[in-house]
Amino acid sequence: MARDRRQANRSSSTFRQAGFVVGLLGGAAVAMGLYEPGADFAVVAMILAGLVLIFALLEMWQGGADSPADSSFFGTAGPLLWVVVVWIFFRYFGEDAPQLILLPVGLIGWLAISFPMQALLVPVLAVLVMEAGLWAMGFQKTAGLAGNLVAYAAAGVGLSVFMSSKAYRQRMRKALIRAKRDTASRECARDLGLFDDTPDILSTLPDYDLINDPEAGSQPAVETITAAFDLQLELIRQTLALSTVALLWPDPEGQEYRLRSIATIRKDIAPGPFGVGVGITGALLGVEELVSLAPATPSLGVPYYLNQIEVGGILAVRLPDDAEEWLGFDDKKIAPLLCVDRPGQQPWTEAEKAIMTLTARKLALDVNMGRQFQAMAHERSAIQRVCLAMRELNGALGLEQVLGATIKAVRTLVGADFISISLVCGNGHCVALAEGEGAEQLIGREFSREEGLVGQVLKINRPLPAKAQCHGPTQVFGHDHLLTGYDSLLILPLQKEKGEATGALTVAVKKAEVFTKARQEILELIAAQVAVKIDLGQAHEEINRLATIDGLTGLLNHRTFQHGFEVMLAREERRAGALSLLLCDIDHFKKINDSHGHPFGDKVLKEVAGILRRAARSVDIAARYGGEEFALVLEGSGEQGGLQMAERIRQEIERMVLHSENGPVQVTLSLGLAVYPDHGADKEGLIRRADQALYRAKKQGRNRVVLWEKE
Ligand code: GH3
Ligand code: MG
Ligand code: MG
Repeated sequence: MARDRRQANRSSSTFRQAGFVVGLLGGAAVAMGLYEPGADFAVVAMILAGLVLIFALLEMWQGGADSPADSSFFGTAGPLLWVVVVWIFFRYFGEDAPQLILLPVGLIGWLAISFPMQALLVPVLAVLVMEAGLWAMGFQKTAGLAGNLVAYAAAGVGLSVFMSSKAYRQRMRKALIRAKRDTASRECARDLGLFDDTPDILSTLPDYDLINDPEAGSQPAVETITAAFDLQLELIRQTLALSTVALLWPDPEGQEYRLRSIATIRKDIAPGPFGVGVGITGALLGVEELVSLAPATPSLGVPYYLNQIEVGGILAVRLPDDAEEWLGFDDKKIAPLLCVDRPGQQPWTEAEKAIMTLTARKLALDVNMGRQFQAMAHERSAIQRVCLAMRELNGALGLEQVLGATIKAVRTLVGADFISISLVCGNGHCVALAEGEGAEQLIGREFSREEGLVGQVLKINRPLPAKAQCHGPTQVFGHDHLLTGYDSLLILPLQKEKGEATGALTVAVKKAEVFTKARQEILELIAAQVAVKIDLGQAHEEINRLATIDGLTGLLNHRTFQHGFEVMLAREERRAGALSLLLCDIDHFKKINDSHGHPFGDKVLKEVAGILRRAARSVDIAARYGGEEFALVLEGSGEQGGLQMAERIRQEIERMVLHSENGPVQVTLSLGLAVYPDHGADKEGLIRRADQALYRAKKQGRNRVVLWEKE
């Protein structure tokens, strides 16, 4: 290992030397004016520029492992290379873009704040040589040289002064202290088991990062417990006239002891961590709950002193574990230890031992209280999250929104690996939305009610399976689909207070026993709420649909035509395209009504509408303009296209034969055509012209197409 490292060091230093040489060559080339805009940019100069850039990038990539403050001679290769890269760039493009001066100025500033003074000598010298060289060779005027140097110096000095200012230093120090305290507090929380490590259950919800971090929020509990420990330890230290009282806590892996809390009068405290089994801690790995030594033997010393002098007697006790859950180590003997010592060699009395045992019990109780405190806080935050999710669900309007919000709400409560929502459709049910493994293939699939657990849930209107447990592959949706790899499964009917279920919510989790009674109850509440919202969502969508569609013909209604036409016109205007507007009116329709009755008239309207709908592409608009009048907007179609389409429709309607009680009936259609942009640019103008053309078609004898033209 050591050899590898030495070898790596050697190759990295060779690389640096090479980088240094390349940097020097590049700098010399800059000083000689090889990168001036006027100079002919020869191949050699180009290769050199490329080499400098590659070395600079490699140096940065490699440098991560080394200290940036490496101020050895070749260690400055990085800054040197970057200086040369920036100067090549600045000299070559700087004439056209003088604002590029910000590049070298910025670089100087960055170097000044990132590197120690001694490491800057080489790059700063390089800058001076390059600038002076350019001046000497006549590529730079004296005023320009002076201006540049002043700007570089100002950037370097200004940033250094700012970084060393008192306010800045104080802010940095505070940030460092805060970061250190947070880390220490987290480590302590983890040791004491003060956070719930259930999987992240809110990862899909925004703004929840903080609540979602199981360690977050453990700080108040940690602080309370630490204060209680400190107080307790100092209390027995003074009561029993001890040198030191220390609480040693195993790390989560059970590999070492950390000094969790200490009350002492000695100065030579080793900060730890200490190996498990070292000194007195080894004695407690046996059957003993308590070990007392007086006089102390050197082989069984306390681990927390740098020198084992003046240790007359040692007493150590394991913290009791009534609930048998100290951090869940397999080896139950790795428990937290309370360890005390004093200079005197007199034996420990029974009363002293009893005080130690009681204190250990009290410390254990403190931790358990802290854990409960933490569990309560966690539960409270879970309820808060459910409330937030429910609020989002309440705000959802359309079906899609409701389904999305439902999945979020469920995720809030359990770290589900698979969630799906099935909705009743026809005789069966189909998967409306699903998330998790294999979800994509499921979305939109229909299943019969006779198959799978979801079908059964819809039939019996009760959650399944019993105990919300799952053993092996399960037919959740249908015969040909097995849900595999989940130990917890719950399928809830989506059912309003009364009436049949409108769907089912399936939640599956890989972990076992996730669906506690409390969680099941909350999920049932969510399911009831979702059932109502799905009903509303479906109604909302139906209302939206009805508001845009003509009830008799199924074409778009007049209002939607007006809006859609406006949108299409704006689009064609943007892309300088064309479109045709056709207004059509059934000829002598009144007579049809009169001779065959209104219901037959309605049938004719539907058939004509059908022909128009089929003629329109998805990008076109086919609408009922009013009564027996229709409008068709053909996207991208000019005069020729419009006329062709109009004629095709006219012929098709002419050929159509309908059957009334009085025998076969045929109708004809008159059509007026106006074209954007030839006949007008605005909506009203185009409609007016198409209408005029339609009027002319009627006047000229009906059953024909007329293109608008000026009279
Ligand atoms: P023209 O060739 O000049 O268009 O003659 P027309 O008889 O078609 O013209 P008019 O506009 O006078 O008659 C339109 C008729 O359409 C009058 C109205 O009763 C009938 N109508 C309008 N809406 C409906 C409807 O929804 N169903 C039925 N059956 N008839 C309708
Ligand atoms: Mg009419
Ligand atoms: Mg008519």
